[in-house]
Amino acid sequence: MSHQPQPRVVLVGGGHTHALVLAALAARPPLPAAVTLILDQPMAYYSGLLPGHVAGLVERTALTIDFAPLAAAAGVQVVIDPVIGLDRAARLVRCASGATVGYDLVSLNLGSAPISLPGALGVKPIGDFLQQLDQLPPPQDLAVVGGGAAGVEMALALHHRFTRLAPGVGTRTRLIAREGVLPTASASLRRLALRTLAEAGVSVLAPWAAVDWTGQTLRAEDGRTIAADCVITCTGGRPPGWLGDLGLPLTAAGRLMVGGDLASPADPAVFAVGDCAAPLNRPVPMAGVYAVRAAPVLLRSLTARLTGAAMPSWTPQPRLLTLLACGDGRALAGYGGLPALRGRWVWRWKLWLDQRFLRSLRFP
Ligand SMILES: Cc1cc2nc3c(=O)[nH]c(=O)nc-3n(C[C@H](O)[C@H](O)[C@H](O)COP(=O)(O)OP(=O)(O)OC[C@H]3O[C@@H](n4cnc5c(N)ncnc54)[C@H](O)[C@@H]3O)c2cc1C
Repeated sequence: MSHQPQPRVVLVGGGHTHALVLAALAARPPLPAAVTLILDQPMAYYSGLLPGHVAGLVERTALTIDFAPLAAAAGVQVVIDPVIGLDRAARLVRCASGATVGYDLVSLNLGSAPISLPGALGVKPIGDFLQQLDQLPPPQDLAVVGGGAAGVEMALALHHRFTRLAPGVGTRTRLIAREGVLPTASASLRRLALRTLAEAGVSVLAPWAAVDWTGQTLRAEDGRTIAADCVITCTGGRPPGWLGDLGLPLTAAGRLMVGGDLASPADPAVFAVGDCAAPLNRPVPMAGVYAVRAAPVLLRSLTARLTGAAMPSWTPQPRLLTLLACGDGRALAGYGGLPALRGRWVWRWKLWLDQRFLRSLRFP
């Protein structure tokens, strides 16, 4: 009797969505397929708790997601070899070592990294950032570039870190924003964030478009300069550049366009989720929350494609709950047009939500 070979599902990248898909697979009957997860590193770091860690409020071990036990519980094979492209005609994933992995369905969950200034330290990949942060002497003039949620949290966290670790240095921290601080947030959240930055002693330069750093001086597009002996970039991210070689429709930000089933409209074998994907049903900013919400949809889509069931059609939620760590044991909360809140209880709430997420990914 001859056996039909099982279809091959390859998950590329250890983002939030794939981690949750693995956790779901560990708790239910397996997919009717051989599933492989390809990672660039065996460990991933959770960005939601990075500011709390940098500020000294959360242990490093609390941030890590260890894929080996998670994949073992899910019955998924793991390959550690950074992916550098796909050969869509031959249905092969191409890895940095020269190895290839065949697929029938492939899902990309690759995240994004800030567009960095030459010489500056980007917050992603988080593992590399933490390694360099450990070696960094407390600076005199710190510039954090990026006026979004991550920039605000990291400016506060780094300022609290350096003033606590080396109070004698008197680190001056500036948050540099091209357009403004939290330009897409409600006026109430923006006001509270600006007040929090001012009370902490972080000054804001906006609009200020940083274009060049000499090691001592940061220069703006319009020629203005400030002293900066350390620059950390937290700007909007871009997914890995090789997505541009796939011959599939991308947004201007380099994200792969996907339909409500999370597959590319131009190639139903290629799925994409999280920061590296742009859902066509509703354009959404890059945020971990959307990567989390995509997990059950991706699992339903893969199952449907393998079994011939109807494909789901997902439209991401229009509004997000924003929780921003202040780095001093408090956090800010904002939702739609409601008045923003600040307090220690908001930080405890954020911590509880983040820890619950991470606990769901921990397997013995
Ligand atoms: C400081 C900071 C705080 C943030 N806080 C929040 C928050 O509180 N809430 C929120 O919603 N969002 C937050 N974000 C945004 C959030 O980090 C991203 O939106 C989220 O991580 C995207 O998740 P993802 O699943 O797309 O990918 P990620 O979680 O970034 O994971 C992508 C994975 O793919 C791997 N990978 C990349 N390239 C390859 C390759 N070529 N081959 C193999 N593997 C690869 C990477 O190593 C990584 O493990 C924050 C961002 C920052 C910088």
